[in-house]
Amino acid sequence: MTAHVSPTERIVIENCAVATVDAAGTEYAAGHIVVAGNLIEAVGPGPAPAVEGVTRRIDAEGHLATPGLVNTHHHFYQWLTRGLAQNSGLFDWLVELYPTWARIDEPMVYAAAAGSLAVMVRGGVTTAMDHHYVFPRGAGDLLGAEIRAAAEIGVRFTATRGSMDRGESDGGLPPDFAVESTEDALLATEQAIDTHHDPSFGSMLRIAAAPCSPFSVSTELLREAAVLARRKGVRLHTHGSETVEEEKFCHELFGMGPTDYFESTGWLGDDVWMAHCVHMNDADIAAFARTGTGVAHCPSSNARLAAGIARVPAMLAAGVPVGLGVDGTASNESGELHTELRNALLINRLGGGVRALTARQALRLGTYGGAQVLGRAAEIGSLEPGKLADLVLWKLDGIGHASIADPVAALVLGPAAPVTLSLVNGVPVVDHGHLTRTDEQALAHLTRTEARRLSAIAGLH
Ligand code: ZN
Repeated sequence: MTAHVSPTERIVIENCAVATVDAAGTEYAAGHIVVAGNLIEAVGPGPAPAVEGVTRRIDAEGHLATPGLVNTHHHFYQWLTRGLAQNSGLFDWLVELYPTWARIDEPMVYAAAAGSLAVMVRGGVTTAMDHHYVFPRGAGDLLGAEIRAAAEIGVRFTATRGSMDRGESDGGLPPDFAVESTEDALLATEQAIDTHHDPSFGSMLRIAAAPCSPFSVSTELLREAAVLARRKGVRLHTHGSETVEEEKFCHELFGMGPTDYFESTGWLGDDVWMAHCVHMNDADIAAFARTGTGVAHCPSSNARLAAGIARVPAMLAAGVPVGLGVDGTASNESGELHTELRNALLINRLGGGVRALTARQALRLGTYGGAQVLGRAAEIGSLEPGKLADLVLWKLDGIGHASIADPVAALVLGPAAPVTLSLVNGVPVVDHGHLTRTDEQALAHLTRTEARRLSAIAGLH
C-alpha cells in the first residue's frame, strides 16, 4: 500500500529547530519545512515562504525537526521471544532459542512484525528493515505477513529474504530441523524479489537477499545469493564479525577470518551491508572502505550479548557507510531505535574515548548513515529539497528536555524524546503523539496472545 498525496497539497511546518543532516550539517535554531505531496519542497531559516495549496500549517514551537530514523537491522519475529536466554552469549543464546523459533507461523510473524514496527514508528522510525531467516516448512507466507504489517502502519520498508542451510550435521550452529535446502532458499529468495521488489524512486518496499551468517549458511549459498542479487539488482545483507566465537569458527572451517571469507565469496561491495562488524582489524575496515561495504551498528544488542564494541569511529574515519540497527528484540528487548542514538554515543565513547562520537554524529548514523547503508541516500536520510518527505518532529519542551539549550544534545543525550508528528512520504504515521493507523492496545493484546501460543507450542511453559 503506497501512500498517495497530491503534489499540489502542501504541509507547512514552522517555528521549530531544524537539523537537516545534510552534507554540511546545516541547522536552524528557528526554521521551516515545506512539504509538497511526498517531497520536501523547501527547508530554511525563519518563517516559510508564501505558498499555495496549504492543507495544514503546523506551529512547531518547542520541537526539533530531523529526518526520519532509518533502521538497518532487525528480526521482527523475535518480538515474541523477548526476555529469554537473558544471560547467554551469542552462540549459547542462539542454541537455546532456535528450537522455539523453528515453531513460528504466519499469524505469529504478523503479530511480531506489527508490534516491532509500532514501537519503532512511534519512536521516529520512518524506514524499517527486517532480516527474516527462519522458514519452518508449512508455516505460511512469513515474508508476506511482515510486508502486510509494514504497509498497514505506513512505514517505508526493506524486507530481506534470509536463509539458513548449514545445519548441525554440516558443521553449522542451527539444528538441522531449522534450516532449508540451498536450492529452496535460493528459489524462495528469487520469488520474493520477483513478487515484491520495487526499485523505483520513492519505493515503499525493497527486497534484499540475506543468508544469515557464516556459521549457519553454506559457502555455496553465500556465493549463489550474491550472484542472484546482482542479476536482480537488489542488495545483500548478512551478519558479520559479530563475536570472537564467529571469528574462531571461520578460521577453523575456512582458514581465514570473516572479512576475508566474505571477500572470497563475493560479499564485499557497495551493494552489501552487514550487521555488527564488531571484530574488525585495520585491514578489514580498509577492505570495507575500499569496496563501499556498509555496516549496521547495533550497540544495545552487542552490549546485551557482550559481543564487544564495534570500531565505529575508525570506520567513519576510513569512509565506511555506517547506520544503526535495533537488531532482533530477543537481544534488545527495548526494540527502539531513537534510544540507540544515545547508546551508540555512550558505547563508542567507552570503546574509543570521549571524542569517539558526537551527538551530531550519532544523529547522522541514525538518519543519513542508515540511508547510505540501505542504498537510499539520494531519496531519504536528510532534509533537503527534492528528497522524500520522511521527517520527525521531536517534542523537546517537556520536563525531560526543556532545560537543555542544544536541541540535538537534548534529543541524543536526554531521555527518549516523544514524537509529535512523523511523516512518511508526506503522510502522517504518527500525529499528535499517536500512531495514526494502529490501535496500540489491540495490538498489545494480539502480540501477547501470539507469544503465549508460541510458548505453548514450543513447550516453554
Ligand atoms: Zn541480527
